Amino acid sequence: MLDVAVVGAGPMGLFIASELAKEGYEVVVFEEHSDIGNPSHCSGLFSTHIFEITGEMPKLHAAKRAEIISPLGKVLKIGDKRIHGYVVDRVEFDREMGRRAIKNGSEIHLKERVRKINYPSIMTRRGEYRARLIIGADGINSIVRKSMGVKSPKIIGAAQVIAKVDYEDEESVKIFVGNKVAPGFFAWSIPLFSGFSKIGVASYGNSWFYLRALLRKMKVNPISIGGGGIPIGMVERTYSRGIMLVGDAAGHVKATSGGGVYPGLRASLCVIKTAERALNDGDFSESALRDYENCWRNDIGKELSNAARIHNFYKKITDDEFEKLIEELNKEDMRKIINEYGDIDYPSRVAWKLVKKNPRLFKYLGIALRKGT
Ligand SMILES: Cc1cc2nc3c(=O)[nH]c(=O)nc-3n(C[C@H](O)[C@H](O)[C@H](O)COP(=O)(O)OP(=O)(O)OC[C@H]3O[C@@H](n4cnc5c(N)ncnc54)[C@H](O)[C@@H]3O)c2cc1C
Repeated sequence: MLDVAVVGAGPMGLFIASELAKEGYEVVVFEEHSDIGNPSHCSGLFSTHIFEITGEMPKLHAAKRAEIISPLGKVLKIGDKRIHGYVVDRVEFDREMGRRAIKNGSEIHLKERVRKINYPSIMTRRGEYRARLIIGADGINSIVRKSMGVKSPKIIGAAQVIAKVDYEDEESVKIFVGNKVAPGFFAWSIPLFSGFSKIGVASYGNSWFYLRALLRKMKVNPISIGGGGIPIGMVERTYSRGIMLVGDAAGHVKATSGGGVYPGLRASLCVIKTAERALNDGDFSESALRDYENCWRNDIGKELSNAARIHNFYKKITDDEFEKLIEELNKEDMRKIINEYGDIDYPSRVAWKLVKKNPRLFKYLGIALRKGT
């Protein structure tokens, strides 16, 4: 009997495995691929808060500025010298997480897909294991979630390529908005290194169609293609007897940006806390693991709910309204507030400040706001 079986060697599974193995528990991570971090779907734009949780990690460069480009090509430039985040090589990030998990004593079984979960039994392509606790960190198509009978969140498609792009400012990312560019979400261009960028689109339409149009407009040719799904909204329940669900599998993703690493890591801290108590007490009942759900809902759950509200409103904005919104936000006092209070992980905080200063913005941002967050 293992102490902990983690399904999925993404950042959440590896972080949890690492922390629990460090405490002396017997942990095995099951990963269906033969390699950690590959294939990578991510753009690798990580807020500074992520590194407050993980500690020092390999980074490519800082992200200090952003240009938001309206449907008609108006540009809102935000940011200055403050570091809001870092661009990372996501493959290297996951591999470093894997190295730490192994160093702390966890086993990682690569090329071992989990086929079925029936707590405490885990059936893989190689055989059966048993574990006192099972952690579902197996991404958007989670088999652990299915075994719990929990419905999948809504998933929107994202298409992404790497291409050579002429950029002047490596520390500035470009965001394109508008219903002809990326209906319901947005497109991006994120500098990597040596003139290469990740260019992508997430949308409610066919994201590949919109990405091809953007690449034609930017006059660039891709050298590699990727993409994946972004969960929109949290699942209704993230625990059952002996099982906890975390990360993309649980919908721990900001519906405003598609960023899942920070909210997933915050929820992972709750997994670790609850797991340690359950393993110590030998109590893996639903009532013992309910603490996990309370923990993350009272923590990052509040901002994820705000993000879902912002998203539900954002996806209905017309192109004319985007133009007006960008015009308003381009005013000096507005940009000053964005630069001072903007936080990738907590967009509702800056939204409050903007509406207070300019009540006309309530029309666009008001619905997203909840007092006290
Ligand atoms: C195009 C795109 C760009 C993104 N950009 C960003 C960004 O810039 N910043 C950010 O914060 N977030 C970004 N995200 C989101 C981020 O990538 C995810 O939120 C994050 O990877 C979730 O981590 P996870 O550990 O929960 O799941 P995953 O990273 O999906 O890992 C799950 C792992 O489980 C394995 N697995 C699945 N099923 C099984 C099984 N049955 N048996 C064994 N193994 C299994 C998978 O192979 C995978 O390795 C982006 C997402 C997309 C699609």
